[in-house]
Amino acid sequence: MSLQANDLGRGGGGRTRPFALLVEDETSLIELIRYNLDREGYDVRVAMDGEEALLLIEERLPDIVILDWMLPKIAGIEVCRRLRSRPATRNLPVIMLTAKAEEVDRIRGLDTGADDYMVKPFSMVELVARIRAVMRRIRPALAEERVEIGDIVVDRSAHRVLRNGVEIHLGPTEFRILDHLIQHPGRVFSREQLLDAVWGSDVYVETRTVDVHIGRLRKALARAGGEDPIRTVRSAGYSLSFS
Ligand code: CA
Repeated sequence: MSLQANDLGRGGGGRTRPFALLVEDETSLIELIRYNLDREGYDVRVAMDGEEALLLIEERLPDIVILDWMLPKIAGIEVCRRLRSRPATRNLPVIMLTAKAEEVDRIRGLDTGADDYMVKPFSMVELVARIRAVMRRIRPALAEERVEIGDIVVDRSAHRVLRNGVEIHLGPTEFRILDHLIQHPGRVFSREQLLDAVWGSDVYVETRTVDVHIGRLRKALARAGGEDPIRTVRSAGYSLSFS
């Protein structure tokens, strides 16, 4: 199943797969949603209670969270509230799953800042459509082949980067780092988070390696002139932003 899903991946070429966190305690539903997200090209991790969800999010920031309402330890609605109260997760796309169809609950769900919600039972086709819609709205960069921020253009299908119209030649790792940063402009990523996103969590690479590749990326981008778009945040990590 996962081999097929990889084949269906998003154009390959070193693009990192988007990362979805599924927070659900019903095993049958977990398998169904996991399978469908995998087919959609997502890396999927599962948390079976609210506490685990918050820990996993701290470890590696997902691109989207599918969050069940009724969960052991910390309820989904409280998880959502906490995510919205922290700068790092304030804009994290969240789709709530609920078995409660009462309108008041729906409204509360939206009050907590969920981007969308699904009332159980729902079809997988519907869930996938909602996920696509939320991602298009919130993170257009993930869905697009060509992303433009400031004076930088990343063309994923052609695997090209332009700055001020000048082609920038990047190694595959530098390309993946830039592609990851450009999907989340302004967000600070720790070296560990970049390692997970660019190299994968099952590969052992020293965090210092990240600095080396960031250095190469900076140097390559500087060849086309303009300000350094990569910000080093002391003891926190790196982000991409333009003033
Ligand atoms: Ca539940």
